[in-house]
Amino acid sequence: MIATKGYAAQTKDSGLAPWNFDRREVGPHDVQFDITYCGVCHSDLHQINGEWGGEIFPMVPGHEIVGRVVAVGSEVTRFKVGDLAGTGCMVDSCRNCESCQKGLEQYCLNGNTLTYNSLEQDHKTPTYGGYSNTIVVNEDFVLHISEKLDLAATAPLLCAGITTYSPLRHWKVGKGHKLAVLGLGGLGHMGIKFGVAFGAEVTVLSTSPKKEEDARKLGAHNFIVTSDPAQLKSAMGYFDFILDTVSAEHDYNQYLALLKTDGVHICVGAPPTPSALTAFSLIPGRKSIAGSNIGGIAETQEMLDFCAENNIVSDIELIDIKDIHPAYERMLKGDVRYRFVIDMATLK
Ligand SMILES: [Zn+2]
Ligand SMILES: [Zn+2]
Repeated sequence: MIATKGYAAQTKDSGLAPWNFDRREVGPHDVQFDITYCGVCHSDLHQINGEWGGEIFPMVPGHEIVGRVVAVGSEVTRFKVGDLAGTGCMVDSCRNCESCQKGLEQYCLNGNTLTYNSLEQDHKTPTYGGYSNTIVVNEDFVLHISEKLDLAATAPLLCAGITTYSPLRHWKVGKGHKLAVLGLGGLGHMGIKFGVAFGAEVTVLSTSPKKEEDARKLGAHNFIVTSDPAQLKSAMGYFDFILDTVSAEHDYNQYLALLKTDGVHICVGAPPTPSALTAFSLIPGRKSIAGSNIGGIAETQEMLDFCAENNIVSDIELIDIKDIHPAYERMLKGDVRYRFVIDMATLK
């Protein structure tokens, strides 16, 4: 076994504290990499707090993981010691179902293995995430990371990046399209960057007028304050797509009214409670409301390669792992531009 240091929640609501645990030995198809940076995702906090149910404790969160390879199994051909490597939200899947066969491991019909708070495909061994110094992952779920990009700022691409890249690619958002990005946080700021890179006209919809300056710096062409009825009204029937990154409760009907005929409202943010939706928001205008979850492994690699070619990374604030709790508090208040990333050198 490989002795590993990390930060774990021992129980629901215990918060995080240092914890030593073992990772498996490097198998023939495994890659071990030492973690240099790990992004802080909103879902880390939901899960350590036991908000989603069925949590597995102790829990080491973290699924925006980058580092350098220190060992490879005897059968591994795609990685060698010294390579940069990354792992996102998944570390395995059944590989046989219709979704897996199509490279859509994120929609594995038999249940994929998430990077933490999940079970390996043996259905009994828990997985532990990236708030730790090293990780062992099957090579098929390890991504190549370019040496060209700032490594710390690359980490959030593994969740926030692919979560926004995948739906924009799926719906072929690009030149000639008017894209609204609803909410300007970790996901929203990546949605702007990808929307602009794909050639769409990008408008940020936000409750906070204070975010306009940042939205424009990130490349957005327009900005609408959603709490201003006049501004909302001026955008009725305007957009081809809305990328909805908001995970607080909000009225979908209000935003569907902003779509043109055949427009699609794409949910990547997940409010905790159900929301009322009237069919009359969809029927006139043949509109759709859809969801999207991260992306498959091949698409995640495509996204990372696209980012390397186009010099796209996340806007981050690097933190010491000891400051993870204050960082969570600031994240809850939306007080981060736009992603915290843990410098794992601070894990002693
Ligand atoms: Zn995430
Ligand atoms: Zn599957």
